[in-house]
Amino acid sequence: MSKEWHPDKHKGDKAAEDKFKEINESYETLNDPKKKQMFDQFGSTEGYNGAQGFPGFDASSFSSSGLGDFADLFENFFGGGGGRGRPADESGADQQVEITVDLQDVLNGADKILPLRGFQKCETCGGEGTAKGATLARCDECGGTGQVTRTTQSFFGSMQQRTVCRNCGGSGKVPTEKCKTCAGEGRTSGRRDVTIRVPAGIEDGQSLRLRGEGEAGRRGGAAGDLFVRIRVTPDPRFVREGADIRSAITIPVTDAILGSEQSVETVQGPVTMKITEGTQPGDTLRIKGKGLPVLGTGRHGDHYVQVTIEIPKKLSRAERQWVEEWKNIAS
Ligand SMILES: [Zn+2]
Ligand SMILES: [Zn+2]
Repeated sequence: MSKEWHPDKHKGDKAAEDKFKEINESYETLNDPKKKQMFDQFGSTEGYNGAQGFPGFDASSFSSSGLGDFADLFENFFGGGGGRGRPADESGADQQVEITVDLQDVLNGADKILPLRGFQKCETCGGEGTAKGATLARCDECGGTGQVTRTTQSFFGSMQQRTVCRNCGGSGKVPTEKCKTCAGEGRTSGRRDVTIRVPAGIEDGQSLRLRGEGEAGRRGGAAGDLFVRIRVTPDPRFVREGADIRSAITIPVTDAILGSEQSVETVQGPVTMKITEGTQPGDTLRIKGKGLPVLGTGRHGDHYVQVTIEIPKKLSRAERQWVEEWKNIAS
């Protein structure tokens, strides 16, 4: 059911999205309360700190449905979304965006401004939908109870269902005069900028959840969450393995024999590396602490350099003479 109602298959369809959330909420509660608690904890870190309170967080380890990391993260995140204290249909929708960062952003962390479209809190009335000076009166639709009874046809026959009153949003009260800017909705549609902090050490494909940074709720209802999927642009000079970095250098055979110093590019800038006497082809040398940060910690990974040794294809007469002499000595 989760696959069938996945947001990817129903882009922009609010009903499908709600259905998807509902399915996943049930799934979560039934299945793994511990996992739910974990994601609740992760998600509840306010705004900026998104992933920082969760060292070693790895989306791929939760893969189970075959939908890929992103989908799995969503399933789990949606499971933890309950208990906002307002009827669900008054809450703002969750939003999803994807941003691309480079290795320098991963190294230092970065603030990114995301331009988003959608509902935002009405600035005139502060989200309550009430005109200035207006008061709240009893809702006629539900008689102030905040709930209405609906009859629905289902597979099991006719059913009486009590649902939240749309007119008052469950509060049982409506403003005597509605805010003109938002027509009493408490939110307006438009563009807004959200600044997010990309934590140092983030991996390609991981998502951040920013609670309350999604679309504004109706008439003061809770805002949705914002999910930011991070893509990390690879750097052709480096191979990333978590917090560790790998690269390769080629050195002259004489440097390998005699030892030398080489300048090596790392994500943290150029570093002088000692090539020890007798370095062998394929040797991997470690430059400690010159990798990327480990997410949520102050530690850094290492930089590994694999050495290729260049053997000259042509020798000058003098060089040839030296090598022949060396051969005589060695044998
Ligand atoms: Zn307003
Ligand atoms: Zn009502």
